Amino acid sequence: MTEKKRTELEASLSPWGWNSRWQALREAGGTPDLLPGRITTESRQIYTVEGPEGPVTAGISGAYHYRAVLRSDYPAVGDWILYKPSDGNKGVIEQLLPRQSCFSRKTAGERTEEQIIAANIDTVLLVFGINGGRNFTSGGLERYLTLAWESGAVPVVVLNKADLCSAEEREKALLTAENSAPGVSIYEVSALTGEGLEGLTGSISPGSTVALTGPSGVGKSTIINALAGRELQKTTSQREGDLKGRHTTTRKEMFRLPGGLILIDTPGLKEIQLWASEEALAETFDDIALLARECRFKDCTHRGEPGCAVQQALSRGELEHRRYENYLNMEKELNYLKTRQDSQAARMEREKWKGIAKIQKDLKKQNKRS
Ligand code: GDP
Ligand code: ZN
Repeated sequence: MTEKKRTELEASLSPWGWNSRWQALREAGGTPDLLPGRITTESRQIYTVEGPEGPVTAGISGAYHYRAVLRSDYPAVGDWILYKPSDGNKGVIEQLLPRQSCFSRKTAGERTEEQIIAANIDTVLLVFGINGGRNFTSGGLERYLTLAWESGAVPVVVLNKADLCSAEEREKALLTAENSAPGVSIYEVSALTGEGLEGLTGSISPGSTVALTGPSGVGKSTIINALAGRELQKTTSQREGDLKGRHTTTRKEMFRLPGGLILIDTPGLKEIQLWASEEALAETFDDIALLARECRFKDCTHRGEPGCAVQQALSRGELEHRRYENYLNMEKELNYLKTRQDSQAARMEREKWKGIAKIQKDLKKQNKRS
């Protein structure tokens, strides 16, 4: 690729978060006839892609479908993809560039399958309302923190509705957050008065992709509107002809904010369920993970075995009972998910081999005939 072309790409795509990392991944993938772009909406595998020449409507190529095995192999909002452009601002998606981070959830129903809600988020704001304290508990924060660590995005805690709190209540909320999220940046803000919002956005570097999650009613939409000012028409739906000639309405889920930040606001992020690994759990509860190394048994469950360092810390008052209980609850939830995933993986493996055996049988039949 010529230096000139590279600079042109950079100029047109960097407002959407394109950088040297994506450039390197693209060049490693070869295929100079394909253009890079970022997915801003998705509806039944019809995508809006922000490409070097503006937005295009794109579907998935046959070869892509053929290669895709899991639901998570398909692009999601926030993904960088490579597409083949065609006339009339259309395109065909050929390749997915490897994700840097992603938020996922288990899909509803029988199959426990990972569904990508949003990809390549750099910073995730974990929003809580600190009025009355009902919406803001350590347990809630730890839960969202685990999701954030699992995603690969950097979490930032946002304590909203500060305008409804006394100085004392604000101090208390800050302490609670600091205890549950050691080392994580915490901002007290008010979306209503605008207090603290500049400090928050100023701490995030331009060109970063940001998303908000947290319980409902804490003020996520209000914060988004405040950050966007008047430029954002969040509920504007675009009418777009889809590739099969039907008309679908697609809500835009990725925006550029005035200050140079990119915002991902998909409905799914607001009702995200736990889909995290043991590693992410250990990161949220790194104090417990550290203690666990001192337990006498390697596979200690910390539920009363002799020589358990976690139990000792509890009895010495060095570990909060509440934090310990929350850890056990989340571990239980993860184990349940894991068991479901394992039995499903075994089933899929069996089906795969059945499929291969059938292909071999068919081939043999064909060979005999010819
Ligand atoms: P979401 O469900 O997290 O998106 O919450 P919303 O943005 O819909 O806000 C829920 C309610 O809280 C609305 O009535 C908002 O006006 C109100 N609200 C949001 N932010 C603030 C704030 O900073 N201070 C006060 N007093 N109210 C707020
Ligand atoms: Zn133990």
